Amino acid sequence: MASAPTFCPNPSPCTNRIVSSSRRRFTSFAFESGRTLFGSGVPSRNFFSLSTRVNRTGPVPISASSHTFDVVIVGAGIIGLTIARQFLIGSDLSVAVVDKAVPCSGATGAGQGYIWMVHKTPGSEKWELAMRSRKLWEMLAESIHDQGLNPAEVMGWKKRGSLLVGRTPEESDLLKRRVQQLSEAGLRAEYMYSHDLLQEEPALTVGEDGGAAFLPDDSQLDAQRTVAFLEKGNRLFASKGRYAEFYHDPVTSLLRSGSHGEVKGLQTSKNTLYSNKAIIVAAGCWSGSLMHELFKESDILLDVPVKPRKGHLLVLENFNALQLNHGLMEVGYIKHQTILASEQLDHGQALSVSMGATMDTLGNLILGSSRQFAGFSSEVDEPVVAQIWKRAAEFLPKLREFPLSDFGRSRKVRIGLRPYMPDGKPMIGPVPGMTNVFLATGHEGEGLSLALGTAEMVADMVLGNPGRVDSAPFAVEGRGC
Ligand SMILES: Cc1cc2nc3c(=O)[nH]c(=O)nc-3n(C[C@H](O)[C@H](O)[C@H](O)COP(=O)(O)OP(=O)(O)OC[C@H]3O[C@@H](n4cnc5c(N)ncnc54)[C@H](O)[C@@H]3O)c2cc1C
Repeated sequence: MASAPTFCPNPSPCTNRIVSSSRRRFTSFAFESGRTLFGSGVPSRNFFSLSTRVNRTGPVPISASSHTFDVVIVGAGIIGLTIARQFLIGSDLSVAVVDKAVPCSGATGAGQGYIWMVHKTPGSEKWELAMRSRKLWEMLAESIHDQGLNPAEVMGWKKRGSLLVGRTPEESDLLKRRVQQLSEAGLRAEYMYSHDLLQEEPALTVGEDGGAAFLPDDSQLDAQRTVAFLEKGNRLFASKGRYAEFYHDPVTSLLRSGSHGEVKGLQTSKNTLYSNKAIIVAAGCWSGSLMHELFKESDILLDVPVKPRKGHLLVLENFNALQLNHGLMEVGYIKHQTILASEQLDHGQALSVSMGATMDTLGNLILGSSRQFAGFSSEVDEPVVAQIWKRAAEFLPKLREFPLSDFGRSRKVRIGLRPYMPDGKPMIGPVPGMTNVFLATGHEGEGLSLALGTAEMVADMVLGNPGRVDSAPFAVEGRGC
């Protein structure tokens, strides 16, 4: 097998590999976890051993074998990769990330990239996690800037500000109340009447009764570039012997000392991965079926009701017929979330489309988005794409001048399966009855925005640190909705 480059741009397929900068060939070697960039600096007593082939160019295809790490993470989406990063920079533990495919092959690759607060509700159970996560994203962007790099180039990061827009008097009233709530919660927020909106966002039409909640400090990122950046950062620890990736290598079973015993590790299709400290399942919408499979022959009864919620996003490359100064979202998006929490949700294919429009730092217009329950299908559904276009054109009249068919190859459709939880909250915490198996899943349409806070929460739990945010609302126990 040919060796792959150290930095693997997404979403191109990567080989199953261990990332290592070792230059020896056909070596069997052991690493000791040492000092870290931001860790305690105390040499660790944790050792892990690798038996593998190494060649000169870095990342290496490996043969089936067994490996031991402190932490093994299942899933290389935004949640798994940020958790890996958190252990790497915040401890001296060794980390392996295993994925059945590659990063960005799940929901993460489709994400629109807003990490906004405008549609989040102060005082809700997710609020503190969202606020903490937003702060961590801002700190990350600042640290990139402090290193002399441009966060816009590195992560597609931009503090564009967001507009949550409504077109009816009822929606405008709701938005005014939301502005008040957000202001009271300490965020800069302003209600804009339609004539002011025209100045602020000339391409947007909301009608005379309409208006918007404006949050000037909201930011966006590019999910694929951010993932590439995270991977690159994680791989810096490979040379210290603290990081490895196993891609195209689905997890198939748990390794336990007897059916009632402690979980020792994971079996994948190609490797046996032992864990000294913790196994974290961050497998997005596949987490439910995977946990069912992993625990089916055990004494543990576990229902992880996470389900795939399919979303389409329409991307028009280098679109210059209109400019957007801010990220836009229609207030109907919140209704999605209200429906989310409802017990009476129709689990059929019921399709909903709400307008979301962002312009990324490369000048692509990104229009979203749809929500439907369609199993694990990730086929493009053209009528859904047409509905996204139609809905966007109701708010951005300039689009009506262009038939969708005109865009040809400059048009891309991204599909992602959001990890949906019936009660609208992610599941973050230890599996009941297990001290070393953790779940981090169910972030539905907020996984990008909540990722860094989730990663910090998981790492604090595993390391026994006091949490920054109350994790009780996200506990696994009692969530089999
Ligand atoms: C259209 C769309 C727009 C969105 N926009 C936004 C947005 O603007 N802002 C925001 O915050 N969020 C947004 N989201 C939501 C966000 O993308 C998700 O919440 C987030 O990506 C979930 O990340 P994850 O890591 O949990 O899951 P995923 O990205 O799906 O990753 C899970 C990984 O687990 C792997 N896996 C599964 N089974 C196994 C197995 N057996 N063995 C090994 N690996 C396995 C998969 O291959 C996959 O790579 C959007 C989602 C969609 C679909």
